[in-house]
Amino acid sequence: MKKKCIICTHYAEYRIKDTADFYCQECAEENFGDLTLLLPLVDDTSSPPPTIDENTLALQSTSTLKHLPDDAIEL
Ligand SMILES: [Zn+2]
Repeated sequence: MKKKCIICTHYAEYRIKDTADFYCQECAEENFGDLTLLLPLVDDTSSPPPTIDENTLALQSTSTLKHLPDDAIEL
């Protein structure tokens, strides 16, 4: 969920330390002139999509070979 700038309601890119005030870059520069007072907001995209490689699939299929009963032909 994106935070919004408290001044212009654009998407915020910075917030003030220890407060809930969010600012876009433009407003932050305008109001503070020094972005070192502000903390950059980072997107939380630290969960890459799961990948299934072909080697794993091949191993799974070979390990599930049918077991043929040795005593099938018994009179
Ligand atoms: Zn703004």
